[in-house]
Amino acid sequence: MAENSKDNKFWDPEITTASRDKIISIQIENLKKTLKHCYENNNFYKKRIDDAGLNPDKIKDLSDIEKLPFTSKDELRENYPFGLFCTPLSKVVRVHSSSGTTGNPTVVGYTKEDLEIWADALARIMYDVGVREDDIVQVSHGFGMFTGGFGFQYAAERIGALVIPISGGNTERQLKIMTDFKSTVLCCTPSYTLYMAEIAEKIGIDFSKLHLKFGFLGAEPWTEPMRAEIEKKLCMNALNSYGLSEVIGPGVSCECLVKDGLHINEDHFLPEIIDPKTGKTLPHNQQGELVFTSLSKKAFPVIRYRTKDISYLYLDDCSCGKKLIKMAPPMGRTDDMLIIRGVNVFPSQIEEVLMQIKDLEPHYLIVLTRENYLDKIEVWVEVSEKIFHEKLMDLEFFEKSIEDKLYSAIGIHIKVSLKEPRTIARSEGKAQRVWDRREKI
Ligand code: ADP
Ligand code: ZN
Repeated sequence: MAENSKDNKFWDPEITTASRDKIISIQIENLKKTLKHCYENNNFYKKRIDDAGLNPDKIKDLSDIEKLPFTSKDELRENYPFGLFCTPLSKVVRVHSSSGTTGNPTVVGYTKEDLEIWADALARIMYDVGVREDDIVQVSHGFGMFTGGFGFQYAAERIGALVIPISGGNTERQLKIMTDFKSTVLCCTPSYTLYMAEIAEKIGIDFSKLHLKFGFLGAEPWTEPMRAEIEKKLCMNALNSYGLSEVIGPGVSCECLVKDGLHINEDHFLPEIIDPKTGKTLPHNQQGELVFTSLSKKAFPVIRYRTKDISYLYLDDCSCGKKLIKMAPPMGRTDDMLIIRGVNVFPSQIEEVLMQIKDLEPHYLIVLTRENYLDKIEVWVEVSEKIFHEKLMDLEFFEKSIEDKLYSAIGIHIKVSLKEPRTIARSEGKAQRVWDRREKI
């Protein structure tokens, strides 16, 4: 960013408010450079580009990319740890990795310049929302191999804000520091904010007396009713922030204060939506799987990387003034989709129904079991303290009424089991919403 634009409303106005034509021409230029860089520096990509008969110099249209095959998470794993790096290791200054709960983790690398790009892309998001150098940014994402902590740390420093790299966990300490240091910005998962709210209530901290303005919340799917709950409890603007380590980390896209869709930093990350079954590219407004091609990073570029995240793309005339394309909040991942008696269900659909019901707490767990070879789905959800202790309601009747609401929204019968307050495990990072007991039964 040019120094003199710091007093502007936008970090990079020449990009974020550019015309569609200008964005497309930047994307084509950067796509050519990225493909050429991959071609010249990595045999895996060289073979792919040759097999597709593509000459990076001759790319005229973004749709030329459709000639190239997708890259899957399995392919990243097969090339563990550094097989898909496109610069010598001597140029790589940082690695991060995704959790790797199944098989090899995926390892991603950054050159010095890549780290600058990352910090700048996320700083743009934060600055455009209103984060400035007098802000105090509490980064409660984990630091370490996970990209969340370091991503926000460097981005907020780049703006010149004061950063508290507190990392996740130790919630009482988080709240003490938030109070004493007067944090104005919070970065963590949406589920963790609700846990913070619960502990705050217990120890007598009132968010309306604290100083939070914005929460950049992501790393897991969440819904509109969940946002309402978080905004009410933490007294801040809760914004949906999306990213994944393979593409760069946080900084791929985020909501502006309009809170209608996440603007994608599309000069760095070229998005596509595909039909996850056929691989066919889908038009705007049609839901499918998000695919990204990185357009500027060097150590670990990705070409048509299948994220498994479900969303759709759209252009609108956003009143924030940014013209970057938007993606809808990812509702879940193709591999988290539950198929219950032939019906596709995302945990976020269940959340959406539950969070709109008064007297339920925003803590739930979906439990899958098998009975007589048939999958059964049950949802455990906590009721409010008041309802539980004062026995203000016939709980069985309440369960039935929730089951009816779920049935009319989703179309399958989901058994509801109401639980005592504070009995469902809380999360300090990514929440585990599904407990699959089918294999063990
Ligand atoms: P992993 O979860 O595999 O360890 P990452 O930590 O890079 O890898 O997490 C990236 C994934 O987290 C995304 O692919 C997506 O599924 C999920 N995610 C990140 N941000 C959001 C968000 N705002 N909404 C929904 N899902 C998100
Ligand atoms: Zn906007």
